Amino acid sequence: MTKVTRRTFVQTSTAAAAGAAISGGQAAGRAAATDGATIKRFKTLGRTGWKVGDISGGSGQTDPGVLEYMFQAGINLIDTGQQYVGHEEIIGKVLPKWRSKMFVLDKWDPPLITPTVTKSALLEALDVSLKKLNTTYVDCMALHAIGHPRYGGLDRIQNPAIYEAWDEAKKLGKIRFTGASSHGPRVIEDMSWGIDNNRFDLILVGANFLTHGIEPVLKKARAKNIATIAMKTMTLYTSDLNIRALQGQHTNARQACLKWVLASGLFDTLVVRMPSYDTAAEYLAVSGTTTLQPADRARLNLIAEHIGTDYCRPGCDACLGACPRDVPIADILRYRMYFENYREQKLGIEKYQKLPAARRAASCAGCQAPCEASCPYGVGIRRRLSGAHQMLSLA
Ligand code: SF4
Ligand code: SF4
Repeated sequence: MTKVTRRTFVQTSTAAAAGAAISGGQAAGRAAATDGATIKRFKTLGRTGWKVGDISGGSGQTDPGVLEYMFQAGINLIDTGQQYVGHEEIIGKVLPKWRSKMFVLDKWDPPLITPTVTKSALLEALDVSLKKLNTTYVDCMALHAIGHPRYGGLDRIQNPAIYEAWDEAKKLGKIRFTGASSHGPRVIEDMSWGIDNNRFDLILVGANFLTHGIEPVLKKARAKNIATIAMKTMTLYTSDLNIRALQGQHTNARQACLKWVLASGLFDTLVVRMPSYDTAAEYLAVSGTTTLQPADRARLNLIAEHIGTDYCRPGCDACLGACPRDVPIADILRYRMYFENYREQKLGIEKYQKLPAARRAASCAGCQAPCEASCPYGVGIRRRLSGAHQMLSLA
């Protein structure tokens, strides 16, 4: 793959723009400017009716030129949020030029959504975002990180003020659709509530080739023509799980993870962080994937071999109650994930320290680990918990 830099992109995009006609030439201009990296497949984004590219943009850009590159390549949905500090502003630098061609998916800051937040506070926050984004509307204003105990229980998304704010914003032409994102342990419960009660037009859920259990939620969403978007497809890669070591050896592990999502047929599109020209080009290269080739499967198997018995699957609770000492296995492994994968060391330690001493994982080291028989994925629970105890006791 040719390395893309700001300089080469600017040179080619200038030349392409000079030769491109207003409409018909736009596609040709895109291909030339982005050195062949283009979106090759479009799908309908559920009931929104938007013809969305199979790969969509996540956050991570600090250079508006990268966004320009992504959009010229055909990416026509950008996912952002108030929590991604500075990201809305970066989008605002290029959005006016692309506004009618771009589906903007924004999200309220998770701590803002509480059982008592008011309609006016939500509308005010929306206005701040619109200003940063340099636009008069977003296509979807979504709830961010529902189903996550860090921010509270189901009652926070049952607050009627949210739905009044959405209705008002629609009337004012400031939003077109509603939605929610989740990769938390209560993803199934919270998403199901929103779908059953007709609150969402689209949902974003964490998914990768090692996660299971979300399929019934996706099926329920599809039955109502609610758009389905995959996110956190790279959570594996950005984890501590040594997957980085695989990159550039026998396989492109990141591309294999994306290909699995594309070939699964479970989603209308996926969003992925594209902080640089190179990452955008790398991910765009797998656009159009509809089936996994034997080589792709071999790559995924290689990844699974490296991390399969370390990775506690989000949303799974098969080991609930499997410890005779009442150690909350999935919770502690999640605190470890906060510490290691999310780099939220303080949060992980705080959560762990709140557990009564008798329920912490100190006792795992000398245990026969009867709990491990309950894990359908063969996670080395005792080993992972013992490591978590060491890590999370470092206060
Ligand atoms: S290793 Fe033993 S103490 Fe630790 S969770 Fe499993 S059964 Fe419980
Ligand atoms: S340890 Fe295994 S059974 Fe327990 S939550 Fe994680 S993946 Fe599920």
